[in-house]
Amino acid sequence: MEKVAIITGASRGIGREIAKQLARNKVKVIANYNQSEKEAKELKAELEKENIEIDIIKADVSKRKEAQELVKFVLDKYKKIDVLVNNAGISEYKMFIDETDEDWNKIINTNLYSAFVMSQEVIPNMVHYKEGCIINISSIWGMVGASLEVLYSISKAGMNGMTKALAKELGPSNIRVNAIAPGIIKTDMNANLTQEELENLEKEIPLERIGKAEDIAKCVKWLIEDNYTTGQVISINGGWTII
Ligand code: NAD
Repeated sequence: MEKVAIITGASRGIGREIAKQLARNKVKVIANYNQSEKEAKELKAELEKENIEIDIIKADVSKRKEAQELVKFVLDKYKKIDVLVNNAGISEYKMFIDETDEDWNKIINTNLYSAFVMSQEVIPNMVHYKEGCIINISSIWGMVGASLEVLYSISKAGMNGMTKALAKELGPSNIRVNAIAPGIIKTDMNANLTQEELENLEKEIPLERIGKAEDIAKCVKWLIEDNYTTGQVISINGGWTII
């Protein structure tokens, strides 16, 4: 049977491209979305034209109950989950001193708690089959920190820590846990940047271009096919950050 993969926040941007790449490579894709129903339906329709069926499921994965319902849907339908891609995320630019408890809860819950609950919900099934692959979409800011994005950096650093620790805990169950830490990728998340700002950023990047969602999706596909990489934070950033 083909592999079954849940991708959170898959209606647009990086998640959407991951969904497309995997679906086109014979992975059974469950594309989660929260608010963008129209985009999710368009993704489904786009793949249907290629005779590929995916499931699109609405759930706010920062809420335990909705995450549980998403996983239940998948297990009822396919009985197993081979891959979880924790991609859903939000960013925000704000002075640290101005951040509120609401900002903390929103960013940490969306970016980090969602990965915690989704992982907890899928792990028992992966342990049962002694096989699984969890991929956390992190960020270079979780590695080097970003001014005006302290909460975002905290959430992604937490994700990196979770990746390493969980990889050790789940290795004996043959479940691999890795993170991908993108640099700057052209998606709606960066829609606030002007053309001039994007060009200036390109000058700072050794490979002289902003990343594409495909650059990340290719790595996800590779991590699923691989079977000896775990606990790693793989940064795909055109050489912008080298540590
Ligand atoms: P995006 O804003 O286009 O996509 C994020 C997706 O997550 C959206 O579809 C959104 O609806 C979904 N989402 C948000 N909260 C959700 C929730 N509670 N439940 C379910 N879905 C939810 O941005 P993107 O660039 O595609 O970002 C994808 C991931 O990549 C994020 O985790 C982001 O932090 C990370 N990332 C992006 C960049 C970049 O430059 N674009 C760089 C580093 C890391």
